Amino acid sequence: MQTRFAIVGAGMAGLAAALVARRLQWQVDVFERSPALQEVGAGIQLGPNATRILRAWGLDAALSPLAVRPKAVEAWCAERGERLASLDLAALAARHGAPYLSIHRADLQQVLAQAAQSAGAQLHLGQPVQALHLQPQAVQLDTRAESYAAVAVADGVWSPLRAQVLSPEAQDQTPLRWSGHVAYRALLPMSSVPASWRLQTVQVWMAPRLHAVVYPIRAGECLNVVVLVAHQAASNLGQDRGWDALADPEAVQADLAHALRGTHAQIQSLREAVPEWRVWPLMSRVPVAGAHHWGQGARAVLLGDAAHPMLPYLAKGAGMAIEDAHVLGQTMREASVAQWPLRLQAFARARNDRVARVQRTAARNGGVFHATGGVRWGRDWALRLAGERLMEARWLYGERHGL
Ligand SMILES: Cc1cc2nc3c(=O)[nH]c(=O)nc-3n(C[C@H](O)[C@H](O)[C@H](O)COP(=O)(O)OP(=O)(O)OC[C@H]3O[C@@H](n4cnc5c(N)ncnc54)[C@H](O)[C@@H]3O)c2cc1C
Repeated sequence: MQTRFAIVGAGMAGLAAALVARRLQWQVDVFERSPALQEVGAGIQLGPNATRILRAWGLDAALSPLAVRPKAVEAWCAERGERLASLDLAALAARHGAPYLSIHRADLQQVLAQAAQSAGAQLHLGQPVQALHLQPQAVQLDTRAESYAAVAVADGVWSPLRAQVLSPEAQDQTPLRWSGHVAYRALLPMSSVPASWRLQTVQVWMAPRLHAVVYPIRAGECLNVVVLVAHQAASNLGQDRGWDALADPEAVQADLAHALRGTHAQIQSLREAVPEWRVWPLMSRVPVAGAHHWGQGARAVLLGDAAHPMLPYLAKGAGMAIEDAHVLGQTMREASVAQWPLRLQAFARARNDRVARVQRTAARNGGVFHATGGVRWGRDWALRLAGERLMEARWLYGERHGL
């Protein structure tokens, strides 16, 4: 049987998997519903776990002019304007043998797309996939004539195809839920922001029921701003499924002014510097109960947010998508097509515990960032006393987990 591999979705997970699969000499078709790889999304941070892999794929030269190497991640109290802790990212990079980068999602997507296509992957834009026909020996997509030896479903957080790959119990146990949190985001030319916001660091500002994450991208030419707010109801805030819902600007400004009341003048100056906010309702699922739930057909695998959507409070969703592709490549190396089903199960076993831990930690971080009362007081003291150690999360960046 031919090593024909289909991938649904040309986001981080799908494109990274396409690159890896081409390096295994498979024939690769990537089906993407958007007619073009548009400039959607916002900044993402990539820790050494992900940049080590990107470097091994030879993407350093393409990424360097687009990314920023922030000097530190800083935790701030958004009410008092006090810096609570700082994690030195040059030292972190030295400890883990790879840098910490901030980059626009669209820039990373372009670099991955170019690398995958140069390696020979076929990218089919404007081609949504609605259904998988999973048979013991092959897979077909919708009514397309081609058969594939396997399919990777990488269609993102809203994944319509996830239900066809997961076990039915897992599907019932892990419904997609609105987290109760909304992300307001903006991308500003660095030249347009107040001097105190021309950052070379990643700053996290925390207040009861909200936090803001601000950092430079695009070689330092743009400032990425995200304010994440716990809401009772998001009915008036643009519930579009997507990265870029543009809600009623006046309602958004009023809502944000209300949420940020009582915060320090520095945060108020940031809000005032943003002419227009995009709104993102944050969705997530709890982790599946075990690796055996990852695939009911022997010929399909879930990758990225389709497999393990998470809240952005550990900044690791894209990193996990890159790890997925890397581990898929390791697991499938030198496998005959007849061995693919067993190897795909081995892939799920290799990934399950780690991504579940990242999903759970990200959800827990939301509570820590938005803490009120005594928890907030304790958090601030812990950060003052041991911030660098608490912020590093060494288990994330080490070279275990087949990385
Ligand atoms: C506010 C916020 C901040 C974040 N910050 C970070 C961060 O700092 N660091 C980090 O690592 N991660 C971060 N993330 C998460 C990260 O962006 C995602 O985890 C990552 O983009 C997931 O990649 P993916 O390829 O799985 O999905 P996506 O990038 O969503 O790609 C899915 C692709 O599938 C396509 N598609 C969908 N349905 C179909 C279909 N039926 N047929 C064909 N194609 C289809 C879509 O058009 C899309 O191109 C953040 C997320 C949010 C919301």
